[in-house]
Amino acid sequence: MSGLSYSDTLLYSYPVKYQLETIPVHDAWDSDVPCPLCSMMEEAEKRHVEYYLGNSVMNPETRVLVNDTGFCSRHFPLMREAGHAHHLGLIAHTHLQQVHNKLSGNIKTLNRGGSARTAGIFSAAVRSQAEECLICRSVERDLKRYSYTAVKLFIEEEEFHSLFTESRGPCLIHAADLADMAAEVLKKKDMQYFLTALSEHLEESLKELEADVLRFTQKFDSQNDEMVWGNSRDAHARTVQMLSGRVVRLTD
Ligand SMILES: [Zn+2]
Ligand SMILES: [Zn+2]
Repeated sequence: MSGLSYSDTLLYSYPVKYQLETIPVHDAWDSDVPCPLCSMMEEAEKRHVEYYLGNSVMNPETRVLVNDTGFCSRHFPLMREAGHAHHLGLIAHTHLQQVHNKLSGNIKTLNRGGSARTAGIFSAAVRSQAEECLICRSVERDLKRYSYTAVKLFIEEEEFHSLFTESRGPCLIHAADLADMAAEVLKKKDMQYFLTALSEHLEESLKELEADVLRFTQKFDSQNDEMVWGNSRDAHARTVQMLSGRVVRLTD
């Protein structure tokens, strides 16, 4: 490690990029939800929406970021629904100006006997602008931290290990995030241990969900009036959550 400064050495010895979020991760896995990570991400999303509509509107550095990057087609409408009309108006105005400036050239090329090529350049520019999102970036950072914490606690803490195996989650989408994180940060043996547990847990929850959702459909047949609902009342909704990685309404 010659040539490294003291702080580089510290960095080298502790290559951890992510911060542990033990308490919220523990609490989420301790609650009886279809997927703890779906619930945590929903909360995180709400927090970031509030942040960008709150006093950050008055912070020049944040305003520069908001004007330049903006919000995606999922998160901008959530900001509309969150209230704070005056603050939304302020950022909407300056962000709109900036988007207009940025796309102005592309918009004008359509007006000069546009070609398939200028149409394609215009649509690509609009789409890439609309995909940029400050909330997506923050939420992705949260997801990394929570996934990091979950795989670490699974290996290091007995209590969390049992919470994990008894939990109804994760959904399929968040199982993918956990698998990626385990591959990124765990030692080979720990990774294999975690992935085996994840695989068994997923197999079991998918099989159970399939049985529940089948029963759900059967309950619409009057011949099955006598059949008990069991855990199947919300199985249609839980299937959507399992496959989409988003909290959905469980009750009809
Ligand atoms: Zn999930
Ligand atoms: Zn977004």
